[in-house]
Formats: sequence, C-alpha cells, structure tokens
Amino acid sequence: MGARIGVLALQGDVSEHIDAFRNAARAFGSEASVMVTPVRKPDEITDLDAVAIPGGESTTISRLIEKNGLFEPLVEFEGGIFATCAGMVMMARSVDDPRIRPLGLMDYTVIRNAFGRQRESFEADVKIAGLDRPFHAVFIRAPVAEHPGNGIKIVGTLPEGIIALEQERYMALSFHPELGNDPRLHIRFLKNCGLI
Ligand code: GLN
Repeated sequence: MGARIGVLALQGDVSEHIDAFRNAARAFGSEASVMVTPVRKPDEITDLDAVAIPGGESTTISRLIEKNGLFEPLVEFEGGIFATCAGMVMMARSVDDPRIRPLGLMDYTVIRNAFGRQRESFEADVKIAGLDRPFHAVFIRAPVAEHPGNGIKIVGTLPEGIIALEQERYMALSFHPELGNDPRLHIRFLKNCGLI
C-alpha cells in the first residue's frame, strides 16, 4: 500500500492541500502510491504516514484541535508533518498569542502576522536552500519564526524573519505552497519522509 497523507480539515485551505499533494505525487510520477484524505478525528490520524496542517486562522485551528481531542494524537504522531502558515504557528514551541496552545513539535518561537497591516498579503520569489531556483511564494497575514533551537534547519528567510524551516520529518513554512502550481516543496517533504 502507498503513503497515506491526511490533511487536518478543521478550518483553512484544506482542499488546496489535498490537490497540491496529489499534484506533487503526479509530478513526481508516483500518483498511485500517495493517498490523500481530509482528517478530523483522533482515530483517523493514527494510521497515517504524514499530516498536513493547513493555513487558516491559528486561533481557530488551535481551539478546534483541543475540542476534537487532537492535541495529544498530533504531539504523539510518528509520521511527517507539513505545516503552512497557521500550521507553522501550531508547530512552534511558543507563540505570541495566549489563545493558542502550540504543539511544540519544532523548536522555534512564532510572531503572528509579522509583516504588518500594509502587507497583509503579498507574493515574492524567495530563495529556499536546496532548491535550484526561487520559489514563488504567497504570503497571507504570515507569521515568522525566531529563536530556532538545535536540530532546526533554516531553509528560507526574508528581512522580517525566518519563513521556512525543516527538521527531519517536519517542514514548516510561513507561506502557502499549496496555492500555485509549484510542487517542489511538497515533493521535497514527501522525500524527506521517505514516502516517495
Ligand atoms: N495570521 C494567521 C494566523 O496566525 C495565519 C494566516 C494564514 O494561515 N494564511 O492564524
């Protein structure tokens, strides 16, 4: 059986993530070996190889993670986690907003909405370590990461702060690679996890 990927479907851009993983697998030539489904309940997570935590509103996602009993299952999850924007907020060890209880799976702190009101959303070609050409990234009220600890690989920064980090089977991005047609980061994540 192929890799099973679940997209946390509590709130946010869930269908975009599902499509992006399917497209990435197709672009890589292993479409048949990747199955992507939305997940909402603890027992839907246990058997997965990887989970995506989508962009959305991290206060809402945090609240729904608690309400659905997903906090412990996500912390204990042994597969890969692909986290974008609000997802990156959830992966941190601490967040500048007391309404959010982050999962603490990656050792960095987060500043939400770090690009200021004038730049609520913007697009930029960003340099990502290990990619041969820049990645066209969509930022929507994006966070940045600070104070990365040991074991964290910083793979992208802008003047405002860190926008992309990796740690073995985890990838956290402050932008939205699921919006747009560039599958390189999804492919890289699947490779990092040994799923393709
Ligand atoms: N600013 C949002 C938050 O912290 C994230 C925005 C997004 O995911 N596009 O929840």
